[in-house]
Amino acid sequence: MSRWEDNVRKVVPYVPGEQPKCTDIIKLNTNENPYGPSPKVMEKTIELEKLRLYPDDKATLLVEAIADYHNVKPSQVFVGVGSDDVIAMAFMTFFNSDKEILFPDITYSFYDVWAELFRIPYKRIAVDDNFRIKREDYYCENGGIIFPNPNAPTGIVESLDFVEDIVKNNTDSCVIVDEAYIDFGGESALSLVDKYDNLLVVRTFSKSRSMAGIRIGYAIGCEKLIKFMNDVKFSYNSYTMNMPSIILGAESIADEEYFRSTVNKVIETREYFVEEIAKLGFTCLPSAANFVFMTHESLQAKEIFEKAKENKIYVRYFNKPRIDNYLRVTIGTKEQMDTFIEFLKSLV
Ligand code: PMP
Repeated sequence: MSRWEDNVRKVVPYVPGEQPKCTDIIKLNTNENPYGPSPKVMEKTIELEKLRLYPDDKATLLVEAIADYHNVKPSQVFVGVGSDDVIAMAFMTFFNSDKEILFPDITYSFYDVWAELFRIPYKRIAVDDNFRIKREDYYCENGGIIFPNPNAPTGIVESLDFVEDIVKNNTDSCVIVDEAYIDFGGESALSLVDKYDNLLVVRTFSKSRSMAGIRIGYAIGCEKLIKFMNDVKFSYNSYTMNMPSIILGAESIADEEYFRSTVNKVIETREYFVEEIAKLGFTCLPSAANFVFMTHESLQAKEIFEKAKENKIYVRYFNKPRIDNYLRVTIGTKEQMDTFIEFLKSLV
């Protein structure tokens, strides 16, 4: 091995869900929203000649739209290139002690990748036999806490009381609640950000706003937290948000009616799908997200995953301890779910 290789930062990267090139498939593997962005977003003209200029480094239009929507001050909003970017920035900013940060063992598998990348010590805390996070396990010395609510890939949501308990029992560290899926069920912790200065709530436009391709995520917390995050961001890359994202993100926020109606359609289809597959011997963990985590009484998840793919239906399978007999299935349109149900019937 060449000597320079000793100095390389070696990491095992996160592996995102497959994005196949072909279009004649039913894609239920990366929790995208089937309905597309609001018509307001689609109809907005972007003055492309302005791409000559650097974008607004503070993304003011978007930050103000988000602040207004959630009834907080613009100085309480941080925006980034998807919530992945926002969470990475938060790890860099807040998880800076020698103590271990804590997160569930079954959760978003990017957390340990960032911890490794930034050399942050971490501990995975086992969820219980029903895949629920045990709050008492988080009442101990730590360098910070992060968990998604609803959790992924389980879809299980915890109550606001539950989240508040973790936040108030950890006032010496920063608690990040990753609310990528909260619009599909459950109560947001945003109502707590003015009460606890150690709470950061992270959101995304990728799921409920159906804009995964544009890459917008944001965090809301007290002004001090957001200032610390911006100090890190502006020491790293000033222009994270491009001009079209800033403009189109603000347009999406302006269309509450479309947002509500598409979120409700996903929720209705989820409930329908869960009922239908129960008739085929499948059980799902209780989901408050735009996906379900399902298992069958006799069929093996891996086999279903492979056969589905052969039939041009893509779902997600994790070959990991405790969850290797489950499939994570994104909720698509009713027609897409019906096709998947027909496929499952053919297997059963
Ligand atoms: N958090 C969780 C729990 C997720 O499942 C995802 C989607 N992969 C993200 C954050 C990141 O989403 P995005 O970067 O598209 O906002």
